[in-house]
Amino acid sequence: MVQRILKTDILYTSAGRPIENGMLAIDEHDRIVSVGTSLREEGVAIEYFKGALCPGFVNTHCHLELSHLVGQVTKETGLNGFIQELQKLRAAKEIEIQEAIKEADRKMSSSGIVAVGDISNGNSTFETKQQSSIQYHTFVELFGFDKSQADSILERGKQLKTQYANHQLAASIIPHSPYSVSRELFELISQQQNNTPLSIHNQETEAENEMYQTGKGKMIEMLQSFGLDTSTFEVRGKTSLLSYLSLLPSDSPLLLVHNTFTSKEDIEVAESIHNQLFWCFCPKANLYIENRLPNILQFIEAGVKCTLGTDSLASNDSLSIWEEIATIQEHYPDIVLETLLEWATINGAQFLGIEKDYGSFEVGKRAAVNWINGGGLTPLVLK
Ligand SMILES: [Zn+2]
Repeated sequence: MVQRILKTDILYTSAGRPIENGMLAIDEHDRIVSVGTSLREEGVAIEYFKGALCPGFVNTHCHLELSHLVGQVTKETGLNGFIQELQKLRAAKEIEIQEAIKEADRKMSSSGIVAVGDISNGNSTFETKQQSSIQYHTFVELFGFDKSQADSILERGKQLKTQYANHQLAASIIPHSPYSVSRELFELISQQQNNTPLSIHNQETEAENEMYQTGKGKMIEMLQSFGLDTSTFEVRGKTSLLSYLSLLPSDSPLLLVHNTFTSKEDIEVAESIHNQLFWCFCPKANLYIENRLPNILQFIEAGVKCTLGTDSLASNDSLSIWEEIATIQEHYPDIVLETLLEWATINGAQFLGIEKDYGSFEVGKRAAVNWINGGGLTPLVLK
């Protein structure tokens, strides 16, 4: 039964072109009953929202467990500086960590985010995720450049994934990045059954490509400074993406996060060997860490699927997809809002496999609605 009818100037549906003077009818279970321009229901008043309405956002890349590090890491030191500083930061008290995680979850919700792909190395986010109105998928992230430890690292990851499952939380095991995971660990992760979708930090710094192309540079030097043996690292003579991509299963959706140093050729070759790629941009974190943005236009020209992420509060001052959209618009004014909203909604939902409920205004889906009025954004509370 129709309980509410919403009307707006522009309805961004993320399922076809925006509808001028569009309307949404919603039932008592907060599900969408119809989408159109002349909806009527006896006894139900039409509620008008000046501006535009769009579906709730999907944040495909976040690290909730780093939320207590807001403002603590120096800006624009490059990825190597960022990692080294992060390592030195003293572990905070458990209560502070928990409060920061809860607050970050609450802020994401109030900035119109309805689903999150969240990277976790531990179990500090269990409680918040279980209680949250946000739908989470957790990526249990593994590090391990030392190949002799690959088995034990995987074992710890599997145990953590089981703990998530025991808390009724969806999770999959993923590699952290091309520079922090041995070939052996990549292969072990790829062999896991029921382990989808996958995600990896990709080409976040030039030194990552250099490591795979020449075996030299800042990334290799950083690994050596951590006391790691880099002598057995296999130099491929290709960019990092084109070196590791074939190690991951091509039958699982894969999110490539950052892509700051990804070339046109990387996109073309990667798309030709993997047909479920999603390219995630976290522009505010890129500006924070490297003060550089990916060449976003070349991804649009290639016609590939893009999503948006906030990364963590260690490298961002907010967890707001709307602010990520505004940052892209500021640097790429030619990219239309309709495109960015699709990245922020349906593409993220498809990547996480939750498009049955989220990501667009279509009949049967949950009515997660954001109201865009002027430059601002307010999530609508339906009840
Ligand atoms: Zn990240």
